[in-house]
Amino acid sequence: MKEGVIKFKCEWIEDKPLPLSILKDLIITRNSLYSMNLIGTDKDGIGYGNISIRYNENQFIISGSQTGIKEKADENDFTTVTSYEIEKNLIHCKGPVQASSESLTHAAIYSACEEANAVIHIHNIELWKKLKNIIPTTPEYAEYGTPELAFEIIKLFAHSDLMKYKILAMSGHPEGIISFGKNLEEAIRILNSYT
Ligand SMILES: [Zn+2]
Repeated sequence: MKEGVIKFKCEWIEDKPLPLSILKDLIITRNSLYSMNLIGTDKDGIGYGNISIRYNENQFIISGSQTGIKEKADENDFTTVTSYEIEKNLIHCKGPVQASSESLTHAAIYSACEEANAVIHIHNIELWKKLKNIIPTTPEYAEYGTPELAFEIIKLFAHSDLMKYKILAMSGHPEGIISFGKNLEEAIRILNSYT
């Protein structure tokens, strides 16, 4: 199944964007990842990669579905995931766009790791090939945007050194790498240390 095909359930309440004061760093970081082709659009015109920050304790702000096609994202490209149920593949979001179809993988990290306040998911084939099974890695059967993938990420916190690495590869999601940190700066620093 191709990324960009929303196979999860997204209950969306359309709302105005959050203030720039909250989104500024998120927008700057997203646009810098776009300029490095780590977030963007593949040859079929399908957006890839997404970025989020924790918000109001158990919620998070994430880039919207299909916003990977935009060279410059702005405040209209981010939405708040207000609640989620991993087993039902269901999220509730509120904002100017629907949340990314990979929101549950971000949710898995926020729910399993209290100190994670920022999550970055990028696509890069070389990095993915290099790091797969070297850093904590989810099994092949767990495909993108599925509850299985979210549960496998939660398992990695319990059964691997993911807390130490703060970066993981997804076998069942070719090119997919996720880093996280106590803030966006740390998530980027960790990603950069492997590139
Ligand atoms: Zn992806």
